[in-house]
Amino acid sequence: MFTAKDDLIIQERFEELLSICDSLDIYKRDDDRDKIIRGFKFANEAHYGVRRKSGEPYIVHPIAVARIAVEEIGLGVKSVLAALLHDVVEDTDFSVEDIERHFGKKISEMVDGLTKMKAATDCSTEISQQAENFKKMLLTLSNDVRVIIIKLADRLHNMRTLGSMTQKKQVKIFSETMYLFAPLANRLGLYKIKSELEDLSLKYNFPEDYKQISEKLAETESEREGYISMLTEPIAEKLQAANVDYEITGRIKSIYSIWKKMQRKQISLEEVYDLFAIRIIFKPLDIIPEKAQCWHIYSIITELYKPRPDRLREWINIPKANGYEALHCTVMGPRGRWAEVQIRSERMNEIAEKGFAAHWKYKEFSGGKVESELDKWIKEVRDALNSSTNNAVEFLDEFHLNLYSSEVVVFTPKGETKTMPKGANALDFAYDIHSSIGNKAIGAKINYKIQPLYTELVSGDQVEILTSNNATPKVEWMNKVFTAKAKQHIKNYFKTDIQGTLNTGKEIFELAIKNQGIKPSRSLFKKVLPAYNCAYKDEFYSKLAMGVITLDDLGVVVRSSATSKIVKYWSLQFNNTLKLLGANKGSDSDEHKISECCFPSPGDDVIGFKQPGSNLIIVHKKSCPEALREASRHGDSIVPTTWSSEKVMSYLSHIMISGSDRMGILLDLSIAITKHMNVNIRKIKIDSHDGIFDGNISLYVKNDEDLKNIMDKISSIKGIDYIHKYDE
Ligand code: MN
Repeated sequence: MFTAKDDLIIQERFEELLSICDSLDIYKRDDDRDKIIRGFKFANEAHYGVRRKSGEPYIVHPIAVARIAVEEIGLGVKSVLAALLHDVVEDTDFSVEDIERHFGKKISEMVDGLTKMKAATDCSTEISQQAENFKKMLLTLSNDVRVIIIKLADRLHNMRTLGSMTQKKQVKIFSETMYLFAPLANRLGLYKIKSELEDLSLKYNFPEDYKQISEKLAETESEREGYISMLTEPIAEKLQAANVDYEITGRIKSIYSIWKKMQRKQISLEEVYDLFAIRIIFKPLDIIPEKAQCWHIYSIITELYKPRPDRLREWINIPKANGYEALHCTVMGPRGRWAEVQIRSERMNEIAEKGFAAHWKYKEFSGGKVESELDKWIKEVRDALNSSTNNAVEFLDEFHLNLYSSEVVVFTPKGETKTMPKGANALDFAYDIHSSIGNKAIGAKINYKIQPLYTELVSGDQVEILTSNNATPKVEWMNKVFTAKAKQHIKNYFKTDIQGTLNTGKEIFELAIKNQGIKPSRSLFKKVLPAYNCAYKDEFYSKLAMGVITLDDLGVVVRSSATSKIVKYWSLQFNNTLKLLGANKGSDSDEHKISECCFPSPGDDVIGFKQPGSNLIIVHKKSCPEALREASRHGDSIVPTTWSSEKVMSYLSHIMISGSDRMGILLDLSIAITKHMNVNIRKIKIDSHDGIFDGNISLYVKNDEDLKNIMDKISSIKGIDYIHKYDE
């Protein structure tokens, strides 16, 4: 039970919260303050006697979460209440109905959302279940974004107090934080929270690195401060002379971003050149537009210090998708050191610090324009969520990609801007405008030049989509588009138009037969279907219609002997153009290894992880729980990986082997054959007796050299004494 000292702590913490609410004057109605007091009393009673792992009374946690919500994020009364009550339903005997009776429908809905999210991230949940739960959790986005923000506050407090958890729980919590919560905070424009989440994750994930960087930063602090004042004094003088009402703060990059840069570039802390940033926050004059004042300040600074032209970042005309607005530049400061300068008005600064919550506040002033990008994004997430075809893991991957991608801003022919994720191509753009444009797209005019649909867009491009009424989507588009939205539209198209697809396939086939002078016969399909790896006519027709198979070699197939067929050969490709997390590139010279936990086979959706300090890439199925875990732990080692295939006429060959039987020889044999992906086995027959074995293998090979390679591989297996090719 609680002691008098516990009660004192509880009372103190709550009074701190209340005085913050008072000083920020968040109350809109007369009884708002009383409501918060009632909420606290209710939660305190419900959690009474329960302690956190740290030994503190449990209620200290909901109070802290409410405090983060109001003090650091700028949320209001309802959010404070929901935060105070957020663990009541999950951890005590009270129900959502009880909350509704006491605090009304809105609060009970928010608490309900938070309860569901808690279940989603519960440590005891199976990993495979976790993705499904995350999906559910993100569904709350469609109801009330505040719920997600309170969840972030909850997570932040848990991260701040992570030290008292067991190590296993720590790993799980910081992995999730890196995989989902930090990017989510970023996406909602909550930069401060995002950086703190990242720093804390690093602290527990790589404690040594964290310690080293933070100690070094502390050591050099006075030197750094000296430098920053040397840098800012001349700016301050000029700004005063120009009558600008401003505030300058010097700041250092976050420990995590320094660490990431050191990792990425393999450099020491001393070599991270853009350690410094200064921020100028100004109170705008009413008579001059804010934007113009940003540029005015920019010109004052660049008169003093030479700017790096390639580092100018202008987010004042076109804000980032999360609403961020500012003008950034990098200048050459005294002693030849680069420093970043961020220029923001007070309004821009509040948006940058408090993200979404600030958008609401300024909504009236900007006519709702500021938040439109964010609204659009939330709508997109909602659309993706509502499509039942997406399985949860796939969804999470796409969502995650969506969170991380930076943006490009392109123009429609009418000069309207569109924000697309970096990596999007013209086809994504087409689908972003409308599915009917995407489905009929045949090409694009980018900056008045005709370009293929797969052309990746860069900021500033003007894009016009060329369409044709006869055009239809192609199945390979699935692998070419970048956005979840485009993928979804293409999937939908193929789902709905099955009969049309089959008819098209049939027409293509009939035309090919006619053109190549082949006589239609009943037995034709007996040869054609296996040659193109199809089990049924419908499969064959639909693949044909979607362009998965082409009939260039139909003549060869039909006239060939029964012992040859078109075989698909698979290889792995490590995508260079897709840069996830901006960190890793794979190259074809990289070694790869198929993961033994999920054994991905050709055609599976796969993902690669680059092993630190080597060029080995381990390939997992995307749906593999191990991969998910790996991704949440070492997200920046991800290498986007796809299978690619080519189809080649192949010939049936037969090999005879014999040797001394030993444990595991069969396994070694099958690994040797399947690892060599270019092999299509038709039959393996092995007999073993009295410590010796012999067997026959029938397989399709491209040519003699291919066969020789395989035979070399097999004969190098311990225990194989004899290998020999024969004709059946
Ligand atoms: Mn909690």
